[in-house]
Amino acid sequence: MSIKAVMFDLDDTLLWDDKSVEEAFYETCLYASKQCGVDPHELETSVRNEARKLYESYETYPFTKMIGINPFEGLWANFNAGDQPEFRKLEELAPGYRKAAWTKGLAALGVDDSELGATLSDKFGAERRSRPYMYDETIQVLTELKGKVKLLLLTNGCPSLQQEKLDGVPDLVPFFDHIIISGAFGKGKPDATIFHHALSQLDVSADEALMVGDKLTTDIKGALSAGIKSVWINRNEKVNDQSFEPDVEIKHLTEIYELL
Ligand SMILES: [Mg+2]
Repeated sequence: MSIKAVMFDLDDTLLWDDKSVEEAFYETCLYASKQCGVDPHELETSVRNEARKLYESYETYPFTKMIGINPFEGLWANFNAGDQPEFRKLEELAPGYRKAAWTKGLAALGVDDSELGATLSDKFGAERRSRPYMYDETIQVLTELKGKVKLLLLTNGCPSLQQEKLDGVPDLVPFFDHIIISGAFGKGKPDATIFHHALSQLDVSADEALMVGDKLTTDIKGALSAGIKSVWINRNEKVNDQSFEPDVEIKHLTEIYELL
């Protein structure tokens, strides 16, 4: 069966989200270092730990896990879209969460300054927003595929945040026939229902589609469960620590051409 459609994950598949987040942490922690003398790298580690702990303590945690919104996205998301009541709860929690993560991160290094914590929490959001990075090959690959196969973007996350990420890279959106955001659909990858929904939007059968993504536990696991050929983009030679294998492993998106 020939391939008629390609589904792409967004973060760290087409968008270089890891780099954006790392740089936002670095700039924010460097600023903190100038204010109070903390080591920027220690502060980043400390804030990441505190953020994770806090995020997991909220009643919204099972929901964020199911939709696929990580603690560091919560450090800049506004959560002001999405129909589910959990998004309203997150919208309410977010400002306090952001401030507490930075304030506790400072406190763990012996700096008691909630005002600086609040400043850093705002700064982190601004730094992340100013860095919408795509991989060098993203546009090249989409240009090559456009018109030959249908293209669908299948991303886990909060509708407002994923939309904001897309707004930051306006060249990306026109390539896609369909865009599905888990928070708007109601279930996140790896749930098979979101993959079935994607297939029905594309009007293709499972064996006519490819799913390309960087995350084994969501993109690959979900594609496998829906019977869609899974393509793991593994740029950094990560070790597969799961009990399942992707159908194909690639290091660069241009390797997709050979699969069509
Ligand atoms: Mg990803």
